[in-house]
Amino acid sequence: MGMIVNGRNVALDARDKSSDIGFVSHAHSDHTSGVSKGKDMLASKVTADLIELRKGVSAKCLPSMHATKLLSAGHILGSRQLFAESDEGYSFIYSGDYQMRESLVAEPIETRSADVLIIDSTYPYRDVKFEDKSEAITSIQHYIDAKAGKGTVLFGAYALGKAQELVKIANEAGYTPAVSSRIGAINQVYENNGVGLEYLSRKKDGEEFASESGRSFVGVVEVGRLHETAQKISDQSGRRVFTAVATGFARTYNMHVDVQFELSDHADFSQAVEYIGQCSPKVIYTYGSKESQRVFARNLSEEGYNAHPFFENYGQGCLDVRAKLHAGVGVKQANQRESSHTSSSV
Ligand SMILES: [Zn+2]
Repeated sequence: MGMIVNGRNVALDARDKSSDIGFVSHAHSDHTSGVSKGKDMLASKVTADLIELRKGVSAKCLPSMHATKLLSAGHILGSRQLFAESDEGYSFIYSGDYQMRESLVAEPIETRSADVLIIDSTYPYRDVKFEDKSEAITSIQHYIDAKAGKGTVLFGAYALGKAQELVKIANEAGYTPAVSSRIGAINQVYENNGVGLEYLSRKKDGEEFASESGRSFVGVVEVGRLHETAQKISDQSGRRVFTAVATGFARTYNMHVDVQFELSDHADFSQAVEYIGQCSPKVIYTYGSKESQRVFARNLSEEGYNAHPFFENYGQGCLDVRAKLHAGVGVKQANQRESSHTSSSV
């Protein structure tokens, strides 16, 4: 997936050999396939640091390019949207993963208006509505308070982003969690970039929590290792281990843990509508899995937006902002939307 800006082919979170440069919105692995050693990439410095840590690849990071600007996306530390403007004055935004609610451990999102918006469709359904973030945080803190005296509270989380948010949430309730070595290394990058986190990092792989043996504590481990680690801690300490996850999918899937909290670093449908309102695009393209792009575009169209799945229009190819707007498709349909809103409000 890509975008042509003033004749330059910019790959968007994707591997594309024909591209002139790649934009990498953030360091989650499903967005870094285009990163390779020595190749220029448009990304924040934090993203470059996190990619070096996680992939061992030191890419050449360009913080900006002619006619482009990186805007905070609010998703994880260092996450950015790409704003670009053609010489003719047409503008576009590629959202990457984003959220409108402020995270305890990421920069708040910056929005601006653009003619074309390419938007993430992780949560395309109207009926998925996240609970208020501060309520989710309070629920997590109350659970830790209630269980910490009775045994260990062990969270399973994505190592990058969610784990740091959980450490911060625990810190604000007065706890210093023990974390796995991999999460500890990522925490260090957060700290180097001004996010204060209190945690105990266990260095030896697979033995991270052994030194906690015989006492209760709060821990954070990669979600894929949650059950195995909980069993190990329980065997070593002889005490109860309460397992917990914090995810936007808490109400969608049963993760077979003691408690699942709804805590997302993405936008739900109503946040997406809020975001689109601030971008006021003439044309919207949804991207993600084919199914989610299609559902999201349909639901946005039903709300009156001029929205289309990216892949149906461009496949894995590039969108040329100038050509699309010259065709006049978006402008016409955006006007129709304005008039339909006017008539319904009368
Ligand atoms: Zn992400």
